[in-house]
Amino acid sequence: MSIPQLITIDGPAGSGKSTLGRLLAIRLNYLYFDTGVLYRVVTLEGLRRGENLEDETSIEDLVEQISIDVRPASKNDGRSFDVLLDGEDVTWEIRKREVDANVSVVSAYKGVRRKLTEQLRRIANRGQIVMVGRDIGTIVMPDADLKIYLDASVEVRAKRRYYELQERGENSSFEEVLESMRTRDLIDSTREIAPLEPAEDAIVVDSSSLTIEQVIEKVLGLVNGLREKSSQL
Ligand code: C5P
Repeated sequence: MSIPQLITIDGPAGSGKSTLGRLLAIRLNYLYFDTGVLYRVVTLEGLRRGENLEDETSIEDLVEQISIDVRPASKNDGRSFDVLLDGEDVTWEIRKREVDANVSVVSAYKGVRRKLTEQLRRIANRGQIVMVGRDIGTIVMPDADLKIYLDASVEVRAKRRYYELQERGENSSFEEVLESMRTRDLIDSTREIAPLEPAEDAIVVDSSSLTIEQVIEKVLGLVNGLREKSSQL
């Protein structure tokens, strides 16, 4: 059995979780799973249906009616994987500003979290996986053998997200991105269920002044440490 079976990476928007998760998974030959995708798809469908996103019951009903799938990338357009909503490719649509602005409201609902957490546990239990999100080390898989909490200052995170949006041709000002990120941080970290916070046994890494390569090296060092320790048992 390869050690660690599951690496969790939690942290706020723009901390570099997805980049770290994706590259780490390639280096270890593990599966990379970005859990925010599920919450984004539910939000997108709610917006498409013109639902009142403040109406918890209708969003909880909606989550029972849709099928979400994540598959290996079918196109070479910068995506790491395909995201399907009832079979339709919504990989880029779920990254739109409108989804960013509403996803934290949807992800705070108990019924939505219960259903998606169940799905995530099933996926995580297959092993050899790097799972990225907000509550993976605290709630979804509290027994994971390596937990990382990746953080960075809100200004650094907003700058990263601003460049990402610009590259995709979405024109929002830096101030708008910063404001949206502050709001999302606040909702995600103060919600009643599964708030964003480091697990007690998580290793906190601040990526504000580190390159992605430095972050990867640090985490690979932790993986190797675990492997050595388990080989001595
Ligand atoms: O990681 P990403 O920015 O795509 O996540 C979008 C939103 O989904 C987060 O702001 C958060 O509200 C929600 N989320 C969550 N729990 C997770 C992953 C994401 O609540 N495990």
